[in-house]
Amino acid sequence: MSASSSLPGEPPALQPWQEPWLRGLLRCPVDRAELTDATAPDGAVELACADPGHRVAYPVRDGVPALLADDARPLAPAATGGAGR
Ligand SMILES: [Zn+2]
Repeated sequence: MSASSSLPGEPPALQPWQEPWLRGLLRCPVDRAELTDATAPDGAVELACADPGHRVAYPVRDGVPALLADDARPLAPAATGGAGR
């Protein structure tokens, strides 16, 4: 009857990339802006570029941020009129 080190029902720990010290190292590959937590329309975790002039979000796949310009998802402008596209 030795106790296991993992407790069932425990909330999931932070992903490795969510460690504060590592978050500080994650930057937008395009403009080196910081990345903020975001959520995709389908509920997936994303990292959004903090530069207001570069509104994109990068997906996190299998716990690994895909910080590639080609993988960036354009974000809709915050609160402007309907002149999109
Ligand atoms: Zn950026």
